Amino acid sequence: MKQVILTGDRPTGRLHVGHYVGSLRERVELQNSGKYDDIYIMIADAQALTDNAEHPEKVRQNILNVALDYLAVGLDPEKSTLFIQSMVPQLPELTVYYMNLVTVARVQRNPTVKSEIQMRNFEASIPVGFLCYPISQAADITAFKATAVPVGEDQLPMLEQCKEIVRKFNATYGETLVEPEIILPSNKACLRLPGIDGKAKMSKSLGNCIYLSDEPEEIREKIMSMYTDPNHLRVQDPGQVEGNPVFIYLDAFCRPEYFDEFLPEYSGLDELKDHYRRGGLGDVKVKRFLNSVMQAELEPIRTRRKMWQGRLGDVAEILKAGCDTARATAGDTLGDVRRAMQIDYFENGTLTI
Ligand code: ATP
Ligand code: MG
Repeated sequence: MKQVILTGDRPTGRLHVGHYVGSLRERVELQNSGKYDDIYIMIADAQALTDNAEHPEKVRQNILNVALDYLAVGLDPEKSTLFIQSMVPQLPELTVYYMNLVTVARVQRNPTVKSEIQMRNFEASIPVGFLCYPISQAADITAFKATAVPVGEDQLPMLEQCKEIVRKFNATYGETLVEPEIILPSNKACLRLPGIDGKAKMSKSLGNCIYLSDEPEEIREKIMSMYTDPNHLRVQDPGQVEGNPVFIYLDAFCRPEYFDEFLPEYSGLDELKDHYRRGGLGDVKVKRFLNSVMQAELEPIRTRRKMWQGRLGDVAEILKAGCDTARATAGDTLGDVRRAMQIDYFENGTLTI
């Protein structure tokens, strides 16, 4: 069977380091592994509109931002198809057919959607489109017959929903759709990177992000103001490493060679953590080290982003070509789906003269 990746991001802002460790870094590795026949990376503007209907300009402005972030981290248009969701009308058509295979109770049970509704104060006024976005996400995934979906942990319920739809569709209409597998980051710290404010998830909507395109000074200021262990008041106090965002970021970003380069008095992260737990190691020192690590990680990304920023015409061409490719693939799948459902009236004999 063909090995295919589909994944994407909502154009609701520039991409941040949570996206990077949760999904982007893995995507680039998978892209360069050569193990995949096709890779589709989608800018999910239609999904972003489900909770930004009054602000289409926000979504529009961020299409280029996300595309630049993609190219900046090393997604390569020669190897990956970058496209915009709403330019592929086959996706909403598939969504409509899938909606009939899911109950209202089932969409209301989705834990990620539930917490997002709470976060957006939607309780009494949930847009139908928002409640149903997991179904449209199933359409995105299955339209490309994706076998692998590299995403962060918050996407687990979406993948579960997608698999249920695939099974129901295949059982009802015959074997047509492919069940995808979720690919989560193997590094636990990357599953759900917390915000610089210590909140459980770094998220564009919460304003607690370090962006891939932040300038060095912004990165430094954000890191130096980061939430740490609130009980670690004096340097000599014992500190807590577990759940401490500064150490979670180090777990997510630090490579052994950074100790040789920036903090040679420690042999590695374990020794640094032990010292913090024991007491005698101040937050400022750890934050300075984290800043050096993050600057080293983000510098090449920022430089590549600036290079692409000077070639916006090429970026537009890349997206346009990607949309054409995506439409063709999704069109083939839609043909299979309509045939399986026997609603391909002009081909199946129903209406042939
Ligand atoms: P929004 O607030 O608009 O929902 P977001 O920051 O949650 O934005 P998405 O576009 O919804 O970003 O998510 C894109 C991808 O990044 C998904 O695969 C998601 O799992 C992953 N992701 C988002 N935030 C994090 C995080 N803090 N840690 C790890 N992965 C994340
Ligand atoms: Mg999100």
